[in-house]
Amino acid sequence: MREPIPSLAGPLLRLVEEFHKLPGIGPKTAQRLAYHLLRMPASEARALAEAILEVKEKIVLCSICQNVTDVNPCRICAGPQRDGTTICVVEEPLDILALERTRAYKGLYHVLHGVISPMDGIGPEDLKIKELLGRLRSDQIREVILATNPTIEGDATAMYLGRLLRPLGIRVTQLARGLPAGGDVEYADDITLSRALEGRQEMEGP
Ligand SMILES: [Zn+2]
Repeated sequence: MREPIPSLAGPLLRLVEEFHKLPGIGPKTAQRLAYHLLRMPASEARALAEAILEVKEKIVLCSICQNVTDVNPCRICAGPQRDGTTICVVEEPLDILALERTRAYKGLYHVLHGVISPMDGIGPEDLKIKELLGRLRSDQIREVILATNPTIEGDATAMYLGRLLRPLGIRVTQLARGLPAGGDVEYADDITLSRALEGRQEMEGP
């Protein structure tokens, strides 16, 4: 918080500051949340605190797809109903939630945990690309769908992966550009995302 309120009790101020660190929470919302918590029964406040701790203690990355999970391999990788010949590559775990909501995709996933961004000093070695290549060594995989976001970094990452994967003899496709420019996978509605999946195109390039 840029302007701490001197009259605020220490513990309350601390809580306001912690809320303010969260994405999308401005100073006013942070204060409202802190005061809301103050009025909560102790049992509810404890349940919230425990949920926060539990998520940090029990959630790990799936050793196969790198998605967040409480069981390893995750439920998607271990799911007998999934099509094990296709991997959809996404930037973040939340993208998987969006794609699963469409119910249009039955294959597997791979989470990169970011995008190539020289401006932020993020190179291919900082992403879960090595892990992806390891999975492609099994000849079961026939198609990789690149579902990075339609941003400069997302496109650059898809291009990089396309160049890396095509020589392996795997079909490499990209979500159809039905997604609005700058519209992230995470926020796309089900119909748009289903269409982008259905209309996926061969990745072109050198
Ligand atoms: Zn998994």
